[in-house]
Amino acid sequence: MRRMDAIDAGAAAVPAEEPRPRWRRPTFLPEGRRLSDEVWQQRHRWLTCLLWLHVPGLLLFGLARGLDPTAVVAQVALLLPAGAVAMSPWFGRNVRSSSTSVGLVVAASVLVHLSGGTIEAHFQFFVILAFLTLYQAWLPFLLALAYVVGEHGIVGAIDPRAVYSSPDQIAHPWRWAAIHGAFVLAASTANVWSWRLTEQEALHDGLTGLPNRVFLLDALEKLLRGNGRTTTAVLFIDLDNFKDANDAFGHRVGDELLVALSQRLQRLLRGGDILARLGGDEFAVVLTNVPDLESAHAAGERLLAVFDEPVRIDDVTLAAGASVGLALADMDTSAADVLRNADLAMYEAKRDGGGRLADYRSGLHVAAVRRAELEAELRVALAEDQFVLHYQPIVDLVTKRTVGTEALLRWQHPVRGLVGPMDFITAAEQSGLIIPLGVWVIRSACMQTAKWQQENPDAPPLTVSVNLSPRQLLDRTLVTTVAVALHDSGLDPASLCLEITEGSVIKDFDSTMPTLNALRTLGVSLALDDFGTGYSSLSYLQRLPVTTVKIDRSFIGDLDSDNPNGQIVLAIIELAHALGMSVTAEGAETLEQLDVLRAMRSDQAQGYVLGRPMPPGALGDLMTAPAPSSLVPGQRTDGAETRTLESAD
Ligand code: C2E
Ligand code: MG
Ligand code: MG
Repeated sequence: MRRMDAIDAGAAAVPAEEPRPRWRRPTFLPEGRRLSDEVWQQRHRWLTCLLWLHVPGLLLFGLARGLDPTAVVAQVALLLPAGAVAMSPWFGRNVRSSSTSVGLVVAASVLVHLSGGTIEAHFQFFVILAFLTLYQAWLPFLLALAYVVGEHGIVGAIDPRAVYSSPDQIAHPWRWAAIHGAFVLAASTANVWSWRLTEQEALHDGLTGLPNRVFLLDALEKLLRGNGRTTTAVLFIDLDNFKDANDAFGHRVGDELLVALSQRLQRLLRGGDILARLGGDEFAVVLTNVPDLESAHAAGERLLAVFDEPVRIDDVTLAAGASVGLALADMDTSAADVLRNADLAMYEAKRDGGGRLADYRSGLHVAAVRRAELEAELRVALAEDQFVLHYQPIVDLVTKRTVGTEALLRWQHPVRGLVGPMDFITAAEQSGLIIPLGVWVIRSACMQTAKWQQENPDAPPLTVSVNLSPRQLLDRTLVTTVAVALHDSGLDPASLCLEITEGSVIKDFDSTMPTLNALRTLGVSLALDDFGTGYSSLSYLQRLPVTTVKIDRSFIGDLDSDNPNGQIVLAIIELAHALGMSVTAEGAETLEQLDVLRAMRSDQAQGYVLGRPMPPGALGDLMTAPAPSSLVPGQRTDGAETRTLESAD
């Protein structure tokens, strides 16, 4: 906790001048929030009905008591204008609710008068006050309260007989007004309190007690409308690994983590700032009176630092990273827009790997719309079979034979033509579409390879490598998908190699290891793709059940006899061999590189010099031709030349 103390000492989240002290509503009073139109209409209808019911009720009561019908009608007639205004669509909410409110207290007062001032009739006021809190607005409530006070305090003092029935009450109107006042106060307090609790429940998050999204948007809207001169900033915070913590340690620990983090965040804020929980692991902070973007940024960074400090719950220590998006509000934006902008910026921070803060830029919205469009297009593409697999030969550097292929996904777009995976894999990942798409890739690659094997029964069985994205590795159905694809295609599991990247495994080591082991148990081999670009952690390399290391093409690109990269490639090859793994060098583009790789004892190579990714029809001929002349010019369909290995000797 040492670090937290240091942050606490920093106290103010924003180095701005302190806001001028303003009158603040005591917190035990309700906000007097505006009800939604629908709810207000419903409640108003009920209360106006109640008002109208008083008309026949009071008439019958007065007549039953044998009072003069003209006097009864004259008194009850007082309710008619109030009822009419309450029902009139020409008036706004305030006028209509006030009219109902005054109508109802007048009805209570008429009842008192018609009853000859009996004390029981006075209880009607308490009931009416309780009903009037249903408007959840101060105006109708205070009007009713003022009427009750006026009726008992002023009328009661001037003409006690009109208000009270018993001789003692008439003799001591002030005492009875005070008694009455105490009851009214008690009834009002209870009602206002329950009104506040209803509001509290509707506007706060049950777990952390923080304001919720509705509250935040409301408060932000008020700030934006009321406070044009100073800048308001919104930070959108989303935890990076919350789901993992929840899954691993249970919801109770997850809940406690959220509470602990919200308390830390709260401690960093100043008086006017608002911290809200938007739901799940999302929080938002409204910073008021921010001088400029830099200060808001600095405040955001300070809040982000909260997540560096691990949280200890029982005997579990959790480190929850977070991504933060920052957006400044301006006069023309609505609260919802600012929050959305901060959300988009947060999403940007997540896309950059999380654990950081990103500012909203004007292009983000456009980019998000484009992403959504791309996702929709991908869905159509999958439904309409627009995806194809191209296959790139993988050549054994000793026998010089094509021993396998890597299946590489392409999108045959109806307008844009052939689109490469770099343009859509991320979108497919983020939308979750990679799961069904991945199933299609695995099944198609297995079917195609089984077909090639059947067409060339005398050749050594051709293998196929299929790329797996991180999300697929976390999918519980992956092992079944692979098993079913192997079964349906009749492909020997040994002919299938699944390519994974270090990043996808290391990030979720504990959950992906069982999947990798299950895949190995099926008999498929595993390759570590793009090796050398990620963590390149030797300890992980040893613990992962991979059979092949694919050296990233960035190392092969400028490989020649005396290049420093050459030493790295050599070291990787020797290390992999020492661990009992085979090596495939990716991206070999020249014959010289092939020579060097062979001299370094790389087992296999893949690259444009040996063949570009090509449609299955174009690659079929390569399978039948004997090695090494299988790789001859002219068998490529995509432009560049394919070279024979022979010439590299
Ligand atoms: P990768 O698995 O490392 O695939 C090799 C990439 O290098 C391919 O790009 C290939 O065309 C390219 N390449 C091969 N030889 C050479 C060469 O000599 N020079 C150069 N400059 N490039 C070469 P591609 O097809 O654009 O694929 C890019 C990446 O997209 C793949 O990298 C892989 O990570 C991903 N990908 C492709 N298909 C799938 C798929 O079905 N599922 C998933 N999840 N990812 C895929
Ligand atoms: Mg690959
Ligand atoms: Mg690669």
